[in-house]
Amino acid sequence: KKTAIVVGSGIGGIAAAIRLAVKGYQVTVLEANTTFGGKMQQFNLQGYRFDAGPSLFTLPHLVDELFTLAGRTPASYFRYTRLDPVTHYFWPDGSALKAYADPAQFAEEAEQQLGVPAKAVQQALAKSARLYKGTADTFLHKSLHKAGTYLSPDVLKAIGCLSDLGLTTNMHAANQKLFQDPRFVQLLDRFATYNGSDPYQAPGTLNLIPHLEHNIGAFYPKGGIYAIAASLVKLAEELGVTFRYNEQVTRITTAAGAVTGVETHNGAYQAAVVVSNMDVVPTYRKLLPDQPAPEKTLQQPRSSSALIFYWGIQRAFPELHLHNIFFSQNYKEEFEHIFQHKTIAPDPTVYVNISSKLDPTDAPAGCENWFVMVNVPHNQGQNWQQLIAATRTAVLNKLGSMLQVPLEPLIACEQVLDPLLIEQQTSSFAGALYGSSSNNRMAAFLRHPNFSGRIRGLYFCGGSVHPGGGIPLCLLSAKIVGELVPESEKA
Ligand code: FAD
Repeated sequence: KKTAIVVGSGIGGIAAAIRLAVKGYQVTVLEANTTFGGKMQQFNLQGYRFDAGPSLFTLPHLVDELFTLAGRTPASYFRYTRLDPVTHYFWPDGSALKAYADPAQFAEEAEQQLGVPAKAVQQALAKSARLYKGTADTFLHKSLHKAGTYLSPDVLKAIGCLSDLGLTTNMHAANQKLFQDPRFVQLLDRFATYNGSDPYQAPGTLNLIPHLEHNIGAFYPKGGIYAIAASLVKLAEELGVTFRYNEQVTRITTAAGAVTGVETHNGAYQAAVVVSNMDVVPTYRKLLPDQPAPEKTLQQPRSSSALIFYWGIQRAFPELHLHNIFFSQNYKEEFEHIFQHKTIAPDPTVYVNISSKLDPTDAPAGCENWFVMVNVPHNQGQNWQQLIAATRTAVLNKLGSMLQVPLEPLIACEQVLDPLLIEQQTSSFAGALYGSSSNNRMAAFLRHPNFSGRIRGLYFCGGSVHPGGGIPLCLLSAKIVGELVPESEKA
């Protein structure tokens, strides 16, 4: 059997390991941390369980597909339920909306709560579906970079002219054309944050994102989000993949234009194939310091990051559900703070995720595990201590006034995650959540491909490379790697 090394056990790395094992490789995953999952972590604090990173799960068939590929029944390893409603939205003017799973019911609710024409909502969701179907095959499912034609200037120019795909406008402008109510525009604009972008800059094409949540559905895995990584690691181990923890890769070794393996603090590994699931920037800067780096790609602006307060809350809030959004008064100002001023707005939109709503064992009886997140810039040397303190006060005041309850006395325990810790814990460059941002229409073309054009046998997966960040896209990056890597002759 040929050997393959995967550097990192983020969700992309685990999926790539499974795909290479199925292709006949002897796969070893080398992980710097003490456990698998990368940004997808969980922890317990005084009787509360928290998923530390991702909380929204879409396109579950991309997980199921890995079990099927390996000849297993997905439901024997991994189960999930469809959410309904998906999200509870709250605005500072006191209005609120439940985003029901059924598009028609959601449209009715929007009409009743906000006075937005139900028909327009359904049309917007249908448009989102068209955008998704028109672009996903080209931009998400394939290695854009193997098909040289896509990169010819003529084709790029032609694509730029396709106003139907929304490349000539930004998300906000496109949404404003469809709706007069600023609250509903804000609801749609928020989907830019799903890949760490700014709706006032990101191309209208990204209005395809609501299709995932509103038409295909949002899901919750039994046991929490971490169950995605845990069930896939179980499968990988059954397929013979070896996971080695506390094993930080320090160098990818090459000879005569091909990979030969990797070095770690503990020794050297030989391999015919190396897949880096480490962020592409440190992969070049730290693991391949003698190789020419694709500077233009590496210098693309990073996506936003997150500031999270994990709070054990000693009370139940029946008006809240799994996903809750408390909007800011001025969305434009909020994104200007993040992307132009590189700071956090004084009145940020706050996302509260409460998994104990679906799994009561995640919190003590009568209590709730609150994951309270604010979108923030990636690390550019800001004074985080000061920003965290100011934002904590702002969030407590905002939630306290919108829920009409003083919150601070209800906090039984607390932990905080910020961009510096995200970078420290996962090597994600500047603590960005989703690699590079999608704030310009060329972003999709400027992500690093899933292979190296210079070094044979070197591949890339995960949120910092094509097709981008978030669980589904990381899984797709691994799928593309699986398709690009040649079969190994089985022993
Ligand atoms: P990563 O998770 O980045 O993991 C990389 C792994 O490689 C790490 O374990 C790291 O330790 C290891 N590594 C790095 N360098 C080395 C080395 N030299 N040697 C050995 N190991 C190394 N996505 C969603 O779909 N929905 C959400 O709701 C969502 N919310 C999010 C909220 C937060 C707070 C965060 C942080 C992320 C969120 N995301 C969300 C994004 C999602 O978590 C990521 O896109 C995805 O998990 C990244 O996976 P990855 O494969 O890129 O690997």
